[in-house]
Amino acid sequence: MPLYEYACTDCGHRFEILQRLGEDAAQLECPLCEAENLEKQFSTFASTSDGKSAPAGSCGGGSGFT
Ligand SMILES: [Zn+2]
Repeated sequence: MPLYEYACTDCGHRFEILQRLGEDAAQLECPLCEAENLEKQFSTFASTSDGKSAPAGSCGGGSGFT
């Protein structure tokens, strides 16, 4: 499932949205300030300039998956 990251140009809030292919992104809005001025980010991994907010090891805790 494609996961897109958007950044609100009004408040600078970043959030990720699961967006289906072909789905209209015109209705997207910032969950914080409800602004529709969003900037699509290419990849969470490509922009590590201001990182350290991404927890390492989000790939599960090793419980129940054998
Ligand atoms: Zn915002």
